[in-house]
Amino acid sequence: MQRICSWCEAELKPYEMNKVENQFITNGLCSVCAENIFKGNDSAALCRFLDNIDAPVLLLQHKPRLVRSANQKARNLFGKDIAEIEGKRGGDVFSCIHAFSKEGCGEAKPCEKCKIKNSVIETLTTGTSFEYVFTFLDIKKQHAVTTYKLQVSTERVGNHALLRIDQFEKK
Ligand SMILES: [Zn+2]
Repeated sequence: MQRICSWCEAELKPYEMNKVENQFITNGLCSVCAENIFKGNDSAALCRFLDNIDAPVLLLQHKPRLVRSANQKARNLFGKDIAEIEGKRGGDVFSCIHAFSKEGCGEAKPCEKCKIKNSVIETLTTGTSFEYVFTFLDIKKQHAVTTYKLQVSTERVGNHALLRIDQFEKK
């Protein structure tokens, strides 16, 4: 089991050690780093942290539940620049077909059972992490709709949630 913070390498305290098995994405982050990186206003530090994760990752804030940032790998995966990601809903970033409805991502009827949305809400509210949640998502690009296989993992960091995209490819 990891005994040091994956970011600052400080030795983890016993209560932080208890969280490590739930930290699928950060692999053991001390509470000081969680606080400094995710509650602070140092966006350069946040970018460095997110870009250091070797997978596409979105960072979601709570109330309203919006994407606050994304690492370079996520921007490449979705072919979007940061202005098309920051402050948007998750479904807007994925180009989920329900994000184009008049209710918008998370509010349309089919969104009630969206596994991605429900995992993120659970993570934000209870701190429970999820690993490899699998679903199908209908993605709209230009005028074509294509079903994608999507697999994600989540982890709460500070008062935010990390959403790692483990798989995103055409069915
Ligand atoms: Zn640390």
